[in-house]
Amino acid sequence: MKHLTLAALGLALLLASCAPAAQEYTATLLAMDTVMELTAYGPEGEGALEEAQALIQELEGLMSATDPDSEIAALNRGQTVALSPPVRELLDQALELCGATDGALDITIYPVVRAWGFPNKQYQVPDPGALTQLLERVDYAQVALSGDTLTLPEGVELDLGAVAKGYAGDRMMELFRQSGVTCAYVNLGGNVQALGASPDGDPWRIGIQDPEGTSYLAVVEVTDRAVVTSGMYQRYFEQDGVRYGHILDPDTGYPADSALSSVTIVSPSGTLADGLSTALFVLGREGAEALWRARDDFDFVLVGQDGTVTISEGIEDGFALQGAGEDYNLEVVRR
Ligand code: AMP
Ligand code: MG
Repeated sequence: MKHLTLAALGLALLLASCAPAAQEYTATLLAMDTVMELTAYGPEGEGALEEAQALIQELEGLMSATDPDSEIAALNRGQTVALSPPVRELLDQALELCGATDGALDITIYPVVRAWGFPNKQYQVPDPGALTQLLERVDYAQVALSGDTLTLPEGVELDLGAVAKGYAGDRMMELFRQSGVTCAYVNLGGNVQALGASPDGDPWRIGIQDPEGTSYLAVVEVTDRAVVTSGMYQRYFEQDGVRYGHILDPDTGYPADSALSSVTIVSPSGTLADGLSTALFVLGREGAEALWRARDDFDFVLVGQDGTVTISEGIEDGFALQGAGEDYNLEVVRR
């Protein structure tokens, strides 16, 4: 339900910024366990949206860890797999991000994700001893990509849930460009990615959801960017009054407890934005700032549980706290 709210919200903001005369095509589909809204403008839009939907279904069919017919499921069963180009490309990019975040992002976390019951929604708090044992199987450095086939070491299992939607966004932007679409916008359940500027030439105005409510707390203006949010509110369960979120700390096996409510990454790359939104949620404010200082390919919005919103200076222009966000304090991190 939250995904639907956010999708609707994104669309409302989008319409407010678009020229009424632009030819608009939209599609809504359920894929990758979320509601996806695709919008493309201009005469090429209709055909491009058809292809984009087929592309998402193809990527989901390859990458879903819960679909026994997927390439990832075959790898997780220990089979030797001739990697398809998309899986190969995403694994390459994701492993690099695992390294860049010093393992805060770790795509071999699946055994632990499963122990918490997130994939099948049979939630449970695992036994601490069992978690310790499962963590021995978690280490992205055990995945060695060379040649055209991959066999995972025994016990190692992949989960591309932290990066797959971001990659799908990148692939859709590429598809739109190749189809001659110059203006498009996709909302993949909280992963927003925009091609070009909005139809009237102004930047897109993207709403960032209030992690504590159903409305938004800020608006960020972007052109040609992915805007990807990770937060506990997107998936969690409660037991004995404790809330357990779906983003896990690979060091402990427990839900990340970094004093952040959500992390939004703004970047030209959807895969990078998706991987880093998850990783920075694990790393917390200091780790997030340190990584931002070491790189120049993303900006962030960190919503703290203490009521502070911290943004990096690259998105300062065009960023505004709004609605629920007016109760937060804004802090800008500079180089
Ligand atoms: P996202 O919604 O992009 O932040 O990705 C969260 C999803 O990625 C979770 O539902 C898990 O399937 C998986 N995941 C959880 N923690 C991690 C982690 N530290 N590194 C990589 N994947 C993770
Ligand atoms: Mg992510």
